[in-house]
Amino acid sequence: MNILFDTYKLFDETLSLTLSYFLNPEKRIHVLYLFTSVVLSYYVFRRNNLKSSFLQYLFPRKIWLSKSAYVDYWMFCFNSLIKIVFIGPYIIIGFYIAFYTNEYFLVSFGFPQDSMGIMQTLILYTISLTVFNDLFSYLIHLAMHKIPFLWEFHKIHHSATSLNPLTQYRVHPIELIINNIRSILVFGLVTGFFDYLSAHQIDKMLFLGVNVFNFIFLFLGANLRHSHVKLKYPGFLEYILISPFQHQIHHSSDPKHFNKNIGSKFAIWDYLLGTLVLSKSVNKIRFGIGKESSNYDSLFKSLLNPVRNIIRSISMRLSLGNKS
Ligand SMILES: [Zn+2]
Ligand SMILES: [Zn+2]
Repeated sequence: MNILFDTYKLFDETLSLTLSYFLNPEKRIHVLYLFTSVVLSYYVFRRNNLKSSFLQYLFPRKIWLSKSAYVDYWMFCFNSLIKIVFIGPYIIIGFYIAFYTNEYFLVSFGFPQDSMGIMQTLILYTISLTVFNDLFSYLIHLAMHKIPFLWEFHKIHHSATSLNPLTQYRVHPIELIINNIRSILVFGLVTGFFDYLSAHQIDKMLFLGVNVFNFIFLFLGANLRHSHVKLKYPGFLEYILISPFQHQIHHSSDPKHFNKNIGSKFAIWDYLLGTLVLSKSVNKIRFGIGKESSNYDSLFKSLLNPVRNIIRSISMRLSLGNKS
C-alpha cells in the first residue's frame, strides 16, 4: 500500500514540476518568454516576406508533431523525475560549499579590511556568477563534444532532427546531472567568495533571486535557439552573444559545423578558442547527426543506447587488448 502511495506521490510531484516550468520566471519556457519569442518570430516572419500565414509559420505540424519532437516532450517529463530524485535533494550542497568557501577565506586572510557595500556586491556578484557559469558551461559542453564517453550522452541532444523550445530539455539524465553539479559548484564558490567580500551583509537566499542577465537572455528569445525561426543578431553582436540562429548552426548535421558555437550566452569563448561561426556565413541547415539520429527516435532508445554504446566500445577495446 505504501509503495503504491509513494509511486503516486512521485508521479504527482513529477507532473507538478513539469507544469511549473511554464510559470517559473527562472525557466526558459515561462509564458512571458514564450510570448516574447512569438513577438520576435513575427519580426523574422515579416522580414522574410513569407507566403504562409503567421500561425502556419509558427506551428508547422512536421516540426511540432514529428517523431523527434515526441522524444523531446517525453524526455522533458522524464527529466523532471530525475530532478526530484537525484538533483533536488542535493541543491543544498551549494550552500555548504558557499559556507566553507567563506570560512576558508576568513581563516586564510582574516576579515576583509574594507568590505563591499550591498549594491557593489550585488552588481559584481551577478556579473561574476553569469560569467563563470557561462565559462564553465562552455568548457563542459566542449568536453561533451571532444571526449567520446561524454559525447555518447550529449549525442541525445544533437539527435533531434527538428527543433522546438522543449528540445532544450532533451538531454540524457547523465548530462543533466553533470550540468547541475557544475552549477552547484559555481554557485557555491562564487557565492562564498562574495559572502566573504561583503562580510555577510547579504543573506545568501537573496543571491537566489532572478539574475538580471538571465532575464535579459530569456526575454530576448532564448526559446528560438531551439526552433526553425532563424533569428540572427547584427554582425558585431554575434561576436559577443550567441544568437538563436548560431545555436541552430551548432545543431547542424554538416561536418563543417561540428563542434562550433559551443557557447551558451556569450560568444566570446567561441571567438577566443576559434569555434565561432557567424550566421551570415551559413544558409540552410539540416538538424541532427545524420543516419545515426534514428538510433535515438524514442525515449527508451535515447536513455539506453548511450549506455549500450559505451559498454560495446569498452568490450571491443578489451578484446582487442587481449588479442595483441
Ligand atoms: Zn552540443
Ligand atoms: Zn541545443
